[in-house]
Amino acid sequence: MTETNQQDIKHHDLAIIGGGPAGYAAALYGASAGLDVAIVEMRKLGGTCLNVGCIPAKEFLESAAVFQTVLSAKEFGTEIDGVPTINMAEVQARKQQVVEKLVKGLSGTLKSRGITVYSGVGTLAPNESSDPEKSGAPKKVLIKNTESTATTENSKKSKPSTTQNPSTQETSTQETSTQETSAQEITADHILLATGSKPRQLPESTGLKVDGKTVVTSDEILSWDEKPESVAIVGAGAIGVEFASFFSDIGSEVMLVEALDDILAGVDRDIAKVVERSFSTGDFFNSQNFFVMICMPFLGTFF
Ligand SMILES: Cc1cc2nc3c(=O)[nH]c(=O)nc-3n(C[C@H](O)[C@H](O)[C@H](O)COP(=O)(O)OP(=O)(O)OC[C@H]3O[C@@H](n4cnc5c(N)ncnc54)[C@H](O)[C@@H]3O)c2cc1C
Repeated sequence: MTETNQQDIKHHDLAIIGGGPAGYAAALYGASAGLDVAIVEMRKLGGTCLNVGCIPAKEFLESAAVFQTVLSAKEFGTEIDGVPTINMAEVQARKQQVVEKLVKGLSGTLKSRGITVYSGVGTLAPNESSDPEKSGAPKKVLIKNTESTATTENSKKSKPSTTQNPSTQETSTQETSTQETSAQEITADHILLATGSKPRQLPESTGLKVDGKTVVTSDEILSWDEKPESVAIVGAGAIGVEFASFFSDIGSEVMLVEALDDILAGVDRDIAKVVERSFSTGDFFNSQNFFVMICMPFLGTFF
């Protein structure tokens, strides 16, 4: 049931919907300029980057780099008893600790700068003014709090493991049904939409429907706590290449599939060439487990 407390409508100079890097950077900037700023965030502060993007991906890479260093320790005169193995559950736990520390740090920074954080889904509420663009007319944001009430079998049985970590963002493929529990309204002179993006689904014709189990996005991978034996990555952009590097380094068999002529489209070609060369030299990738497929003939199949 929805409850809106009409008596206590707070007003801010700037209300930002979305607490990711765009939203929190704008909030800090606004606060440093003396504005009363609010952020409305429906999941975790820090958005994709801190929770299911840049930071966790870099932590995975760091673990893979340590593993590779240990594997080659003998070369450097360090003797290790037995064969080193990677423990994905530990990799996962360490990554999550780093993420939580950063999210907590961000939350503290926002608080210390006097920025108000509202938890819930922000939507633009209809403006009572006959001219919504009228200068000075306060704009309204409705903040709805929801509660998860059910989880589908898909998300429960995800393999290797996509068990939802309480601190990660809810994955886009999880079919949790939510129930609205309460709603609150705020007003602001200015509203900034910084709602980010979510992983793209492939067209139905590909047959690659994200099910959170066999076909997954980066969101689910970042909560895996078991190493997959093999993985096919569709798309050799920065994120695809990053995951390819991680999985090949920890010993999974990797196939990286790219529809374009080159990997890392949009990246400086000299840099992309160095990365591409490393696929065979093993400089950045464990080339024994690694295979790149430039799949022009299969364009119709994948895209
Ligand atoms: C695996 C991966 C690795 C990446 N690595 C890098 C990297 O190394 N370097 C780099 O520069 N970039 C990287 N990125 C990209 C980076 O994460 C994004 O560019 C960045 O997060 C975008 O910031 P944003 O604030 O625009 O959106 P987001 O980070 O997506 O934040 C948007 C926020 O808005 C919230 N929100 C959405 N709708 C509402 C609503 N109605 N009400 C309330 N809240 C709402 C969301 O919950 C979210 O927290 C990576 C991305 C991924 C997926």
